[in-house]
Amino acid sequence: MTRVALIAHDEKKPDIIDLVREYEDLLATFDLVGTGTTGKRITEETDLDVERKQSGPLGGDTQIGAEVADDALDGIVFLRDPLTAQPHEPDISALLRICDVHDVPLATTRTGAEYLLDGLALDADFDLDP
Ligand code: PGA
Repeated sequence: MTRVALIAHDEKKPDIIDLVREYEDLLATFDLVGTGTTGKRITEETDLDVERKQSGPLGGDTQIGAEVADDALDGIVFLRDPLTAQPHEPDISALLRICDVHDVPLATTRTGAEYLLDGLALDADFDLDP
């Protein structure tokens, strides 16, 4: 099954909720994993199930990076806040790097995320406009 990670910095959490609502039918057919707070918000505010890792600052990005190293993930939506310094920036850089190493698609913007999910829908033969 397609496995996707969902991560959003605090300022971007409303955006990721909006995105997953738009793609909820598709995402319901995927295996989802997320960092702690992002995962919590998605499970509370939608009908989706998300496997929750640690919160980002406590190692959640690193845990998701480990899944990339194991070739367990098909894509990552990581809505980053470029305007606020993050205490766990080294973990974030490491996650981006391991995605580059393993050629795992990672989108950091809303439009990029839409293209990524559209692509995964195509791969999964899922009709987004039935
Ligand atoms: P959070 O972590 O979902 O636990 O807020 C996201 C992050 O800061 O990487």
